[in-house]
Amino acid sequence: MDKGLLIVYTGASGVGKGTVMKELLASNDNLRLSVSATTRAPRPGETNGVEYHFVTFERFEEMIKNNELLEHALYCDNYYGTPEKSVRDMLASGLDVMLEIEVEGYLQIKKLFPDCVTIFVLPPSLEELERRLSSRGTESPEVVRQRLNRAIEEMSYAPQFDYQVVNDDVKRTKDEILSIIADIKNERK
Ligand code: 5GP
Repeated sequence: MDKGLLIVYTGASGVGKGTVMKELLASNDNLRLSVSATTRAPRPGETNGVEYHFVTFERFEEMIKNNELLEHALYCDNYYGTPEKSVRDMLASGLDVMLEIEVEGYLQIKKLFPDCVTIFVLPPSLEELERRLSSRGTESPEVVRQRLNRAIEEMSYAPQFDYQVVNDDVKRTKDEILSIIADIKNERK
């Protein structure tokens, strides 16, 4: 039986999930983010082993074959996946673990861990999402379009999640998620 809480944290690319996540980790000592593996290239400022484990397609396919991943998905032409061992170790030691993953990953995790808590982060509006995605300046206009289309598709899954949170302000959103986690931990004591 796992001691920690497994939290699936999903939302459109550009919705500000990463910024909220940094605040969450800084505010809650018992919370950890699972570092995923991906075949996408690092963005400027990203470090291997911190934001992601950046791996080749060959290595990723080997991880799939060896059952090293709890879940994986292809997102805008790149693989993303959750390494199993680190997540299980953290949960067993009582830490609460957040998986920042897209919808296909959520569907796989929900089957494996029916007791997980699922949170979907929404943008205040689609216009705002498009503005945030384009102004990040790290993706080509083609990739921005691809990610926006995927975001619209993904948002249709939001009602299936336990909680929907609108990221209109980073600190407010962080506080809302912290109180969701605290309430669930109280209920499950
Ligand atoms: P980005 O390239 O913007 O860092 O991530 C693209 C999408 O992949 C985001 O929706 C992010 O949440 C998702 N993602 C990141 N890591 C994983 C993972 O391990 N598994 C799955 N299924 N999705 C992931």
